[in-house]
Amino acid sequence: MTFVPPNALGPVARAGAGVGKRPSVSFEFSPPKGPKSEASLWEAIRRLEPLNPTFVSVTYGAGGSTRDRTHRTVVRMLQETTLKPAAHLTCVEASREEVDEVIRDYWDAGIRHIVALRGDPPGSLGGAYTPRPDGYQNATELTAGIRAIAPFDVSVGLYPQVHPESPSVDHDIDVLKAKIDAGATRAITNFFFDIDGYMRFIDKVRKAGVTIPILPGIMPVSSFEGLSNMSRRVGVTVPGWLSNLFEGLDEDPETRKLVAASVAAEMCARLAEEGFSDFHFYTLNRADLVYAICRVLGIRETGPSPTEAAA
Ligand code: FAD
Repeated sequence: MTFVPPNALGPVARAGAGVGKRPSVSFEFSPPKGPKSEASLWEAIRRLEPLNPTFVSVTYGAGGSTRDRTHRTVVRMLQETTLKPAAHLTCVEASREEVDEVIRDYWDAGIRHIVALRGDPPGSLGGAYTPRPDGYQNATELTAGIRAIAPFDVSVGLYPQVHPESPSVDHDIDVLKAKIDAGATRAITNFFFDIDGYMRFIDKVRKAGVTIPILPGIMPVSSFEGLSNMSRRVGVTVPGWLSNLFEGLDEDPETRKLVAASVAAEMCARLAEEGFSDFHFYTLNRADLVYAICRVLGIRETGPSPTEAAA
């Protein structure tokens, strides 16, 4: 049966009809810094949980700085929700033994999915990375290390605009293939705004023989200044049309939110038209934008959509 989002218009409706598959989503959160942010994180988790994401992931701070908080958050998700949590893990400033201990702790706690990343040097995102001699050198080695310990589902990072340290797209694709050979089962991309560029990139990756699922990373952001800073540091281009949309809205957070939600929903709809049906959202620990975008995509609380129920 073809899934058509109820009451949707234009590309959104075409996307649902064209793909013939209900979009599936995953959500990324960061561990809370303190009791106040813990409360707002859990409010967001509870709001998004009924949308039945494929998985939710929790990031790992620079240099393992959030090791315990990431662990606590994923374990609480496992124990208190219906969600399937994935724990991010990096190689930064840790020996193999230390990282292996974290991996074993996750397995013992019932976590079955790790997002394996090299990480960035603490305090200088975008700066030069020096691996520890006794540590995992990169995400490829980390993936192999994880799989050697237990049969985890392992997701890895991918960069539609090329990783800032990489000499070329071809090099990034070779690295991805090495990660897959090491046991990676899924790639999640960095955020991006150039959809045509994204599709050219994915075509290239597929032509190189990569068949694992690749989830486009979607960043719905209502702080344009924050987005610009982050984008600069991770080598993502912010297009002129996006800055035009936010121009003059510095003092108008409500409109910025509406703009952010509609841009991200439009991106997802366009990607869905092109055959993509899985989306990974960087939530920044807030539910409102992501919840609205999911509604526009026709994703409802668990259970059949009204259209499916009526069919
Ligand atoms: P790698 O895949 O290891 O690549 C890094 C460099 O190492 C590449 O330029 C490549 O040249 C080289 N390399 C890797 N493998 C090989 C190989 N087999 N042969 C030769 N060279 C190789 N950071 C955090 O600190 N915490 C997080 O929770 C976090 N979550 C993220 C989630 C997603 C979805 C993404 C896309 C990124 C995330 N990051 C996170 C950021 C990430 O740590 C940085 O982008 C980092 O600079 C690179 O990580 P990576 O795993 O892609 O590195």
